[in-house]
Amino acid sequence: MDQLKNLLTVAPDRIRSAIDLEALKEVENDLLGRKSLIAESRRSLASLPPEERPATGARLNQANEQLTALIAARRAELERAVEDDLLLGDRVDVTLPARALGSGWHHLVTQTLEEVADIFVSLGYGVVTGPEVDTAWHNFDALNTPPTHPARLESDTMYVGYGDPDDELLLRTQTSTMQVRYMEQHDPPVYIVAPGRCYRTDTLDATHSPVFHQIEGLAVDEHITMADLKGTLAYFMREFLGSERKIRLLPHFFPFTEPSAEMHVSCFNCDGSGCRVCSGSGWIELLGCGVVDPHVLEAVGYDSAKYSGFAFGVGAERLAMVRHGINHIKHFFENDSRVLRQFS
Ligand SMILES: [Zn+2]
Repeated sequence: MDQLKNLLTVAPDRIRSAIDLEALKEVENDLLGRKSLIAESRRSLASLPPEERPATGARLNQANEQLTALIAARRAELERAVEDDLLLGDRVDVTLPARALGSGWHHLVTQTLEEVADIFVSLGYGVVTGPEVDTAWHNFDALNTPPTHPARLESDTMYVGYGDPDDELLLRTQTSTMQVRYMEQHDPPVYIVAPGRCYRTDTLDATHSPVFHQIEGLAVDEHITMADLKGTLAYFMREFLGSERKIRLLPHFFPFTEPSAEMHVSCFNCDGSGCRVCSGSGWIELLGCGVVDPHVLEAVGYDSAKYSGFAFGVGAERLAMVRHGINHIKHFFENDSRVLRQFS
């Protein structure tokens, strides 16, 4: 009975300190198993004097019940803890910031073309697009470019075959093809811009690529002069590059305009004082333009005595390079997301 008393003194602590269900099972085995004090005492009841048996038996039963209840309580506690652990492991922390889903954005070339188009749309121009494979007629002949012109050589132009025996098919070298296509279908007045992809047999260098993008502008109306061209381009440049950039027009030659000019802008890098980017001149060539040659108007059946017009063509990559200080045209085509992300 002394042993039982001792057991009942230490057992509750042992049960409570069972760290997990396995440990509790061991404790239970010690306290209530076949070799436990209580089991062995029960087996030896028969050896006691008959008058002591009922009281001793009752005490053993009481101790057994007491310990069983304590073990059951601890087991319930441990099972709850296991369940809590599982729930904790599966818990979703709704306060964690969500992983950002990368959304796309337009390529810088597309952004540039759209921004230029928007500026001209605000002036009342329409936007037209057309085929990248076009006829030599639309790309050259109708634009007053004679059969002997060097731009028509395969060293400059990529030919893809014949539409009909007299008219070769080519990858357009300029979006000026859309001037012709539009004027064939519409009577004056004409105010359009034509953005799109162009191809030339150029070797890749810092500013040239065999594939590039151009936006062409054309205005045909009564009394259009070089002054209208200059005013329109000055407005365009102010809107696109900001008012601090200076522009100048230098005489040039294009088959489809007369007079023709090249427009330069003051260098973005040195602001006109001269640097490596502008080859020391302080200016960067940006676009070609001019008053539409009467032959071009006549080629599409316009009355060149009544109507006149101006046209310009500008490369989208070049515009973006000048505006953002990008030093090589390859950045537009390599599609390195670290570069492109800067313009997202
Ligand atoms: Zn410069």
